[in-house]
This record gives sequence, C-alpha cells and structure tokens, in this order.
Amino acid sequence: FDMFFLAFVERLFRPTFKKDDFVLGKKLGEGAFGVVYRASLTKKPSSKKEGDFVLKKATEYGAVEIWMNERVRRACANSCAAFVHGFLESSSKKGAEYWLLWRYEGEATLYDFMRSKEFPYNVETMILGEVQDLPKGLERENRIIQTIMRQLLFALDGLHSTGIVHRDFKPQNIIFSEGSRTFKIIDLGAAADLRVGINYIPKEFLLDPRYAAPEQYIMSTQTPSAPSAPVATALSPVLWQMNLPDRFDIYSAGLISLQMAFPGLRSDSGLIQFNRQLKRCDYDLIAWRKSVETRASSDLRRGFELLDLDGGIGWELLTLMVRYKAGQRISAKGALAHPYFDREGLLVLSFMQ
Ligand code: ADP
Ligand code: MG
Repeated sequence: FDMFFLAFVERLFRPTFKKDDFVLGKKLGEGAFGVVYRASLTKKPSSKKEGDFVLKKATEYGAVEIWMNERVRRACANSCAAFVHGFLESSSKKGAEYWLLWRYEGEATLYDFMRSKEFPYNVETMILGEVQDLPKGLERENRIIQTIMRQLLFALDGLHSTGIVHRDFKPQNIIFSEGSRTFKIIDLGAAADLRVGINYIPKEFLLDPRYAAPEQYIMSTQTPSAPSAPVATALSPVLWQMNLPDRFDIYSAGLISLQMAFPGLRSDSGLIQFNRQLKRCDYDLIAWRKSVETRASSDLRRGFELLDLDGGIGWELLTLMVRYKAGQRISAKGALAHPYFDREGLLVLSFMQ
C-alpha cells in the first residue's frame, strides 16, 4: 500500500508537460527509433539558454523506454540520467509519437571523451576533482580508468538490482553528468525488465553488434515466443537465475574497459577487428592475448602494461567480464568487490612490502 500511495502522491505533484511547453534546440542524436533534441520551456525562459532538458521523440518503442525510465527513477535514480516525464503525443501525420524528457546532464558522453587523443586525461579533473600528484603515465591513467569503471559498474549494479538489463551498454549511451560528476547511463530503449516480463524477448535488431555478448544469437532462438505478463512475473526470478541476463551488460562493460586500455580498439574498425580475433579464439581472452602479444604493436603492449599494473589485477578482472558463457562472467556487484577497486587494500599491501 505504501509503495502505491507514494507513487500516487509523487505522480500528483510531479510537473507534467505537453508538446507546446517546449522549444526545441540543437539536435543531439537521431536513430532508427527516435530523434533527440536539447529543449527548454517556453513559459519559463530557463537560466541556460540552450535548454535544461533533453527531449526524445520516439516511435512505438518509446512506450517501453518510458516504462523503464519510470522504474529507474523510483528504484535506482542515480544510475541513469534524471527522467522528468514521458507522454504520448498523437500527431496527425506520423500517428502515435512518444515524447520523453530528461534533465540535461552535460555535453559529453564517454564516447566523446574517448574519441579525443587526450583520453583519459580529459576526464581526470572532472571525476577526481583535481589533477593527481603523479607524473603523466600508465599509473595515473590507470587510476582515472579505474574510477570510470567503478562508476560504470555502480550504475549497472543499480539497474541490475532493479531487474533491468540495458542490452545496449556502450560509450555512446553513457553521459557525463556535470552536476554529480559521475557517468550515468542513458538510452533504455533496448532495455528489458525481467521481473515483470516487459520486453522479455530480446529485440536483437536493436542490439549493437559491436558491444553485444555472443549469447544474443542464442537467446532469440531458444525463446520462441513471449510469455504473457503474468507468467513472466511468476517465472522471472528463476529465469534471471538460469540465464543471468545481466551478464550481457557485463560483457559490454568489459569491452568498454578494453577500449579504455587500448586506444587501437576505440575506433569502429579496431573494435570490429578485435571482435573477429576474439571469436577466432572462441571468446577466450587469455588465448587472444597470447595470439597477439608476440607480434604486438607498441600500442598494444602499452595497454597490457597498464592492465598488468598492481600485479595484473585489472587484467584479472577483465578476464572475469569478457567470457563466452554468461554464467561464468562476474556480476556488477561482484566486480565492484574485486580487489581491482580496493585502493586502500593496495596501499596497505605496498606499505607492507
Ligand atoms: P538514441 O536513441 O538516438 O541513441 P539516446 O537516448 O542515446 O538516443 O540520446 C542521444 C544522444 O543525446 C546521446 O548520445 C547524448 O549525446 C544526448 N543525450 C541523451 N540524454 C541526455 C541527457 N540526459 N543529457 C545530456 N545529453 C543527453
Ligand atoms: Mg543511444
């Protein structure tokens, strides 16, 4: 009762908006399923000229995205960009159109940062507050990357604990929130909520093959039809245990981690080539390392050196994330508890040595 009551009161007092309340600004993105703009209120000229909101006009999949955002806001608000409102807008020409509104979090995604030659130094002061007392080099880069990875896994853990799998986890869908100085997840358009069976069947055509775990091909054929909502509700905790669908996102997070360590994997062609190599090694990351290390470029060698810092603890965590079998991958919570993130632990160790 309390939950419903609170949700009701919250809905009652939350501002609701309609089409005419907004002026559209710059276009921020355009995909097959919607267009995203920066927007501001017409009535109340906002403090920031470009607009305090982000508005997505979505096709029929917008309904699922609204559902996911509503749930996230109640259960794990810190994981994702702050959702404000979602509504159905039936325009005469295009038929039904869903409008989704978020707070404008900031101007750059992780993808934008990673595209720059300066990465990861271009993130340093933003997430660590100040420039570290370390010379530029592997150790300092490792610290920045470590902090980014901790934030990504923290956000993923929030989603997964809520029962949501993102399924399109990639640098383009990770926004840097200037207010909270953390990376947050965006774009729940391909997400699945297993606890209530919403969007249970993976829409494989929505998935980005560059970041998708190998089981994308398996799940869609083994699950011929969508269970009806009540059945899914009854079964989903079991399904969650059996299939560990959250590990799909962990695989993607592992790939992002690899891209941070190896600049060569940040380009499209580099990532695609890596995926091909890894597949040839039957998705065995250690085998991949052996296959490339002998003839490795200095760029690759530097990446391995970074991952080998602190006794190879970063490399070890990576091998727990990028695995063929979902069940053998570490969970977001498990990864956060991994010694890789245990800075105090490392300090104690180095003190004792
Ligand atoms: P798409 O379906 O086009 O991928 P996204 O939800 O990923 O839609 O948003 C597209 C782009 O809009 C993002 O890559 C990001 O640059 C920007 N964006 C989305 N949400 C926000 C937000 N809350 N704050 C700032 N920028 C955002
Ligand atoms: Mg996106």
